[in-house]
Amino acid sequence: MSVLQALNEELAQGQVKLIAVSKTKPKEAIEELYALGQRAFGENRVQEIVEKNDALPKDIEWHFIGHLQSKKVKSIVPFVHLIHSIDSFKLLKEVQKQAKKVDRKVNVLLQMFIAQEETKYGLDKQELMEILEYYTADNDLLSHVRIVGVMGMATFTEDKDQVRSEFKKLKDLFDFVKEGYLMPADFKEISMGMSGDYKIAVEEGSTMVRIGSMLFGARG
Ligand SMILES: *Cc1c(COP(=O)(O)O)cnc(C)c1O
Repeated sequence: MSVLQALNEELAQGQVKLIAVSKTKPKEAIEELYALGQRAFGENRVQEIVEKNDALPKDIEWHFIGHLQSKKVKSIVPFVHLIHSIDSFKLLKEVQKQAKKVDRKVNVLLQMFIAQEETKYGLDKQELMEILEYYTADNDLLSHVRIVGVMGMATFTEDKDQVRSEFKKLKDLFDFVKEGYLMPADFKEISMGMSGDYKIAVEEGSTMVRIGSMLFGARG
């Protein structure tokens, strides 16, 4: 059994979706997993996701998982399946603007700051609340985005308790938003967990894991 099949069996029990993170990997590597049935792939660079979308089968679901610059939003909005990395209100407004132009409603996750490392991107609670007030208010300012959940990255550490507590923090935040803002039923995703920590993430309520090196081998 391939790593992909074993992983899918493991994740299927908890109905967790696998995003195969194919960043830096050639198209052939994606085609191999595609042939085994994988359809959701994650990329973190705009130029790369655009090129791969052009070259590969049209039924691939492209997930953008990296830090996204506002000026590059336009290139991915026509085809992206889900943007995991909304880390500022400014960025979300740009997605709205570009999505409206192409008459699409774009799915997004709000990336939350849960790690101790200062290098990771994410919204703070203040900005999160500002976005949610706009989103749930009776206006059409965010008419072309669909906020379907939250995303977070734990600190890169061997300390499993710390990782677990960061994932718990994200789950709590998700519940706070879901209940506190009476979010619609399509607000249901918690994107957390990578090759090194996905088991803990699944135990803590992840609905989507983003896995690269475990599937494709270490990035060169
Ligand atoms: C690279 C990356 C992953 C996958 O990491 P692996 O350790 O290779 O599984 C997941 N999420 C984000 C945001 C990434 O940049």
